Amino acid sequence: MTESVLCYIGLGSNLDQPVQHVQCALEELALLPNTVLLQHSSLYSSTPVGPQDQPDFINAVAALSTRLSPDALLDELQALEQAHQRVRERHWGPRTLDLDLLLYGNEVIDTDRLKVPHPYMTERNFVLYPLAEIAPMCEIPGADTLTTLLSGCTLGSLTKLQV
Ligand code: ADP
Ligand code: MG
Repeated sequence: MTESVLCYIGLGSNLDQPVQHVQCALEELALLPNTVLLQHSSLYSSTPVGPQDQPDFINAVAALSTRLSPDALLDELQALEQAHQRVRERHWGPRTLDLDLLLYGNEVIDTDRLKVPHPYMTERNFVLYPLAEIAPMCEIPGADTLTTLLSGCTLGSLTKLQV
């Protein structure tokens, strides 16, 4: 068990009532052991990255304070994905729940199963805009400031939902 660390989780869903999957997952994150859900962004809708023949995604970002190690946290996130009956059929394909560990304090992690900061987070509007909503000053190790990253990342079809 480590000291409490501030983490950010990216949530995504595009199957079977995705708003409910994301809202439910936020409640489940709040129940993780040795973890406090500090804050979460609004929900957003976004068009899919990769294959376009799939429904739009619902996305959000959550801030956690956790005493779980990075691997233990990833285990918990993957267990929640499984609990939502996620089936991994194809890369970047549809899923009932995707939980990505975006940031774990200011740590840089590069193992077979875990890469932090999450490799694509600096270029994805559905990560950067929700993250900026809850943590505009947050620092991403090895990357530009969030303000600079946002200036190079169009809002595109990303839409904040009123739910
Ligand atoms: P993606 O989120 O890029 O669409 P997946 O959710 O299918 O891809 O993740 C595939 C693998 O990515 C997982 O088995 C996990 O071990 C690995 N992975 C590496 N870094 C991370 C991270 N920061 N957060 C979540 N999963 C990660
Ligand atoms: Mg993932």
